[in-house]
Amino acid sequence: MSKVSYAGAKAIVVGYGLTGKAVSSFLKNQGSQVVVFDDDPTSSHAGSDVEVRKVGDDFRRVLSEADLVVVSPGVPRLHQVYSFDVEPISELELAYRSCDIPMVAVTGTNGKTTVTTQVTQMLSLAGYRAAAVGNIGTPAISVVEKELDFLVVEASSFQLATTKRFRPRVAAWTNFTPDHLDWHAGIDDYWSSKAKIFSNQSVGDSAVLNGNDPAVMAATIPEAVETIRFGDGNYEFKILNNQHLASHDMPFIALSELPRRLPHDLENALASSAIVDRLGVDLNIAAEVLSNFRGLPHRVELVTTIGGISYFNDSKATTPASVVAALSGFESAVLIAGGKNKGLDLSPLRAIASHLRGLVSIGDSREEVALVFSGIEGLTVLTADSMKEAVFAARSLARAGDAVILSPGCTSFDWYGSYGERGEDFRNIVLSMTGEGGVQ
Ligand code: ADP
Repeated sequence: MSKVSYAGAKAIVVGYGLTGKAVSSFLKNQGSQVVVFDDDPTSSHAGSDVEVRKVGDDFRRVLSEADLVVVSPGVPRLHQVYSFDVEPISELELAYRSCDIPMVAVTGTNGKTTVTTQVTQMLSLAGYRAAAVGNIGTPAISVVEKELDFLVVEASSFQLATTKRFRPRVAAWTNFTPDHLDWHAGIDDYWSSKAKIFSNQSVGDSAVLNGNDPAVMAATIPEAVETIRFGDGNYEFKILNNQHLASHDMPFIALSELPRRLPHDLENALASSAIVDRLGVDLNIAAEVLSNFRGLPHRVELVTTIGGISYFNDSKATTPASVVAALSGFESAVLIAGGKNKGLDLSPLRAIASHLRGLVSIGDSREEVALVFSGIEGLTVLTADSMKEAVFAARSLARAGDAVILSPGCTSFDWYGSYGERGEDFRNIVLSMTGEGGVQ
């Protein structure tokens, strides 16, 4: 059901990846005249039925004649599309303008996919037709014409940066630490892009915030919007007596029933429960989903245990903060970390030194990572030139009862095409050792 008609509109789509393709096919179906621009039109555009031009001399002129300019999330913030006299919008904004499906939006440096997944599962169990969209994989625009009760949007800062009217009924912000400094103009731009998630909310909407995170709590919430805080403190959604998750002091699930209960797992569970509560879902339903939620692949995922050593794949951890969150749940671990640093200060990793027996640094940033942990008594630091070497080195450092965890704190693009490929490689190498050590 379209709110705005784009029939006959001159539309420019910038970037022709998954999102750009979904946008151009939506707009073409709407009857728009679509021209796509890409910095590298040769890659993966073969066979497309729209005109894909290289960003170049005619870019400015064509943009100035357009009725609508939609930028893909991968287009960097400093791209020239932002320097002309046009107001590019994100695919999320286009989706918002194009349907009446109520939206829930989740942003944050970490935990977005987890919370988006849990919320979608909770809404589905409550009998709603809900789809998880956005950064999680499916562009929102590709489902706006479906019969749905809710869209649960994993909203990246890239998408939020170019929203204008986007107004989610419930908006949640899980946490904030430096990230994506290779894309944003700086940390302030990253923060204010995220804070935009609340800016158009109004009467009847709710903002769900991590009460423990001062950067999140600094967001401006419009006066008419109900604010719900979650976290380990005296908040609306909180941990009660270290035994239960509770809403307004009423317990709704015992911590012992949660398969995942690292501190950040509890934060995510509270955030998801708070969101669905504001949509009228019974917290018993939230509890049922949480009691069956074993986590997502590549996020502190147990691969196997060999000779008393448990191997965890946390390849999705691409920031130091997510490594710290993961490692804080382990008493004695050997960490495999490093990769392609996306412009982040890695020194916060040192905070987890007391949880480590050893470190194996990998990838482009291996020297930088090793340096962070240098000179710490009792902590052995090795470097490796391949994942296989890293896994074997970690095994040689670990003792029975320890964990070996791949939690890189960096992206995978030095050695792999994605964090998923990196995690699979780690998993396969670990599993290939089961014959040697015996699975417990
Ligand atoms: P995102 O979609 O925001 O990247 P994910 O749910 O995919 O978040 O988790 C990404 C990484 O961050 C994983 O390594 C995960 O273990 C870790 N993580 C998940 N939730 C949190 C949280 N609330 N705080 C810190 N780290 C988290």
